[in-house]
Amino acid sequence: MLYIGCHLPSSKGYLAMGRHAVSLGANTFAFFTRNPRGGNAKQLNKADINAFLQLAENHNFGKLVAHAPYTMNLCSANESIREFSRNMLADDMTRLELTPGNYYNFHPGSHVGQGIDKGIEQIADALNATLKPTQTTTVLLEGMAGKGSEIGSKFEELRTILDKVELKEKMGICLDTCHLWEAGYNIVNDLNGVLEEFDRIIGINYLKAIHLNDSKNLIGAHKDRHERIGFGKIGTDPLIRIINHPQLKKLPFILETPNDDEGYSNEISLMRSNYTEW
Ligand code: FE
Ligand code: FE
Ligand code: ZN
Repeated sequence: MLYIGCHLPSSKGYLAMGRHAVSLGANTFAFFTRNPRGGNAKQLNKADINAFLQLAENHNFGKLVAHAPYTMNLCSANESIREFSRNMLADDMTRLELTPGNYYNFHPGSHVGQGIDKGIEQIADALNATLKPTQTTTVLLEGMAGKGSEIGSKFEELRTILDKVELKEKMGICLDTCHLWEAGYNIVNDLNGVLEEFDRIIGINYLKAIHLNDSKNLIGAHKDRHERIGFGKIGTDPLIRIINHPQLKKLPFILETPNDDEGYSNEISLMRSNYTEW
């Protein structure tokens, strides 16, 4: 079973997202846990969540991959932004327990001049202050393209963060194909080599989800510009090899391509028609 979906608007609640996903042929999806401008997140509605959980069961949904707001930066040089980010993280952990057992993906952050080591320390401190042994959500660090002072464009940096987190069993990694490519990992000509490197440095069992995107840029560009499948510099065939790779094919794949509903629906059916069941 291929678990594939896309990033969906969340303002109308869980049931609306579930129905939207089904209408696109998706059986997982991503969504922002709150308005990226921050402030208080919308009150969650238990009836809405229960109706969604039933729909997800009826349609054999895979794990959801919630996305933290882009404004979260746990390693900002500014203490008030760090505090705002830690509060959002803690609040999101509480809220996600209403839809148990899913994934929560976040960008490790940008150290903005503080240096990678200090940034990594701050990210790990925030996770250690927040993660609880009883939580059912797995928190995923997203591998980044390496724009500006972004942390997490190298497997070694992701590994160093994991090393410093106490509750490692609550942690995982989400790889984004556009980010990998723009970070310099050659997933077009050497997918096996990239996965071997990931396994050697981090451990393949930490890999929990894939963001499936083409890229507007050449390998190593460090710009982070997503493109629709087949319209970028990665191309359709390498992405089809990714969804079929024995070490990846059971993971949830999330499209974050610049698309409308019709475009997402087309990309989902393109991937489904090129997926081999195991
Ligand atoms: Fe992301
Ligand atoms: Fe992504
Ligand atoms: Zn991106």
